[in-house]
Amino acid sequence: MMLLLGFLLVVLIKPYYRNDRIRTIDVISETIETLLLKEDVKNREIESAARTIIGNNVCAIIYNENGKAIYNPPDSLGQLCMLDKQISIEEEIFTIKNEPKKMIEMIKKENPLSVTIYSQYTGMEMLLYGKQIRSNLSNYYLVLNTPLEPVESYIDFILNQYLYIAVIVVFIALIVALFLARQITSPIVKMKDEANKLAQGNYDAKFETNSFSEINDLASTLDDATEKLSKVNDLRKDLVANVSHDIKTPLTMIKAYAEMIKDISGDDPVKRNEHLDVILQETEYLDKLVTDMSELSKLQSGVLQIKRENFDLKECTEQVVLLLSQAIREKNIDLVLDLDECVVYADEIKISQVIYNFLSNALKYSDNDSKITIRIRNSEEDVKVEVIDNGNGISEEALPYIWDRYYKVDKNFNRSVNSTGLGLAIAKAILEAHKAKYGVTSKLGEGSTFWFELDRDYETEN
Ligand code: ATP
Ligand code: MG
Repeated sequence: MMLLLGFLLVVLIKPYYRNDRIRTIDVISETIETLLLKEDVKNREIESAARTIIGNNVCAIIYNENGKAIYNPPDSLGQLCMLDKQISIEEEIFTIKNEPKKMIEMIKKENPLSVTIYSQYTGMEMLLYGKQIRSNLSNYYLVLNTPLEPVESYIDFILNQYLYIAVIVVFIALIVALFLARQITSPIVKMKDEANKLAQGNYDAKFETNSFSEINDLASTLDDATEKLSKVNDLRKDLVANVSHDIKTPLTMIKAYAEMIKDISGDDPVKRNEHLDVILQETEYLDKLVTDMSELSKLQSGVLQIKRENFDLKECTEQVVLLLSQAIREKNIDLVLDLDECVVYADEIKISQVIYNFLSNALKYSDNDSKITIRIRNSEEDVKVEVIDNGNGISEEALPYIWDRYYKVDKNFNRSVNSTGLGLAIAKAILEAHKAKYGVTSKLGEGSTFWFELDRDYETEN
């Protein structure tokens, strides 16, 4: 930029100066004309006014009709002024100050007169300008002279100044560029290092922010990504661990029983059926496990969106009870339904799944002939659903973990009851997707109460 600027300066300084001179001469001539055209203007006044108008680098004479100079100051141009030197115009060689009449003749012939003459004294082109000014009283002749090229020293001065400025500007630009580059590159270099860590599976990578908003955005996006990757990684790790554990056991059973049928019980229909039943049970378990796992992972990854609508919660609960009625009958459970009429704004299928999970747990962990109560309370603010049992209860130590995936209080619990340990984790994911409050109170040996609260129907909400 500085080079371009310097080049333009050198190339343009002369034409620019020339134009500027021509314009100055025009302005001076017009101003003097209006001055002379004023009525009863005195020669004295003309002189002092002209002195202020005619500035540097211009020399001037004003003649009256008789060729008498009414303005003829010591020249501001000094030695450069051509008015008192011999010049040649149109093959005439003369000195204007000595032969004003000749000049006046020329102006009369061509008004305004504007000629470029070459000064052998300075080696520069000069502009000679003459104009006749006709006033009511008399005629005046204005003669102006100015160099059309800047003086060498003037150009040197400008270029020198330019050089100083250029050096300073380039120096400052260098410092600023260095500073900016460092500001931008150093966080990016750090980010690269952290990203390398991440690539090697180190999820402690932390992306620093700095004062550039784009870099900040990038850093926080990468931090987000790290967090998500780390979560996915955790999920993957314990999924692999759990799945291999949970799937391996039933598979071993299936394999063992299948071998048994093949080798031993194949011909004994009673034994064979017994063994086939075990295989069927295990397959059912595997089926439930896989269904639950995919349901949970869909819920947790947000692939499965909840679809809220108004529905009758009482009716929904009764449907769930119907689904489990056989188990209720088998265990001879005294089921008490204490259900308020109410409409809630939620995902019906998902909520019935939660109630199903709560109720099936209550059934699973209650003794035969015990009592289970389902209660729905429709209050001013919201609707509370409670499933109360008098079963095993849960110890205080286990209580915080029951909502975790694969968590089972009794690790050796008979697997044939189809317990994957995912039921409450699914319920939790559903309730959290609804932003619902939920919880459990339980005492070992006395029973448990699982509950959640839902928004009232959409109409009343708004
Ligand atoms: P799944 O529901 O997937 O068939 P699960 O019932 O074992 O398996 P969850 O429903 O997640 O799994 O429950 C986790 C654990 O919490 C259970 O294994 C059980 O130990 C305990 N639990 C849940 N509900 C009750 C209850 N009503 N009474 C006593 N313990 C319970
Ligand atoms: Mg359960």
